Amino acid sequence: MQKVAIITGASRGIGRACAAMLARCGIKVIANYNKSENEANNLKEELTRENIEIDIFKADVSKREEVKQMVEFALNKYGKVDILVNNAGISQTKLFTDITDEDWQNMINTNLSSAFYMIQEVLPSMIHEKNGSIINISSVWGINGGSCEVHYSAAKAGMIGMTKALAKELGPSNIRVNAIAPGIIDTDMNKGYSEQEIKEIKEEIPLGRIGEPEDVAKCVKWLVEDDYTTGQVISINGGWLI
Ligand code: NAD
Repeated sequence: MQKVAIITGASRGIGRACAAMLARCGIKVIANYNKSENEANNLKEELTRENIEIDIFKADVSKREEVKQMVEFALNKYGKVDILVNNAGISQTKLFTDITDEDWQNMINTNLSSAFYMIQEVLPSMIHEKNGSIINISSVWGINGGSCEVHYSAAKAGMIGMTKALAKELGPSNIRVNAIAPGIIDTDMNKGYSEQEIKEIKEEIPLGRIGEPEDVAKCVKWLVEDDYTTGQVISINGGWLI
């Protein structure tokens, strides 16, 4: 029976690359988007041209009710969810002293509570199947901490704690939980960097280049296929953080 995956924030960037790669491997993909309907439709059309069918589903994953509706859609249509990639996220650069309560809540809700909601909603199906792979997209800043990104770093570190604790709790149900901590990946999230800043970052990366969304998607694909890795944080960063 075909595997079923939900990928959050899949209209562009890393999420889109993961959705396309898993769909091309024969996995039934539900690609979540929030605001970028055109981009989500583009992904669906691109795959349709290759005779691959995917579902796109609009939901703000920072809201429990919308997450619930998306998981219900998946369960009604396919009867199970085997793979969850918690990829949706936002970033913000601000001095710690300038972070407002609203910035903080927004960051935590979008980047961390979303994973809590998604995992709780898919879990009954995974436990019933006695199988599952949950992949949380964290960040190098969740390991190392990023200056002027305290709320982002805290949310991404929270994902790592959640990953390790859940891996222990869910291992006996044969559900693997892992995190990927990307370095700098060429997506909209980094469009604020100047050419000079990107050049300087590249010089710090032993492999000499910024990552592509597909570099992260390949790791997601591997974690989906593997069945003896759990509780790990894999940093896809070209050697930037060793
Ligand atoms: P991106 O901005 O292109 O993608 C983020 C996606 O999340 C978008 O599709 C966006 O619509 C979606 N999203 C945001 N809020 C949402 C919400 N409330 N509900 C549903 N979807 C929502 O950036 P990206 O680089 O592809 O980021 C993907 C993930 O990778 C993020 O979690 C990000 O923190 C993480 N990450 C990125 C980098 C990098 O260098 N690009 C590095 C480390 C970690």
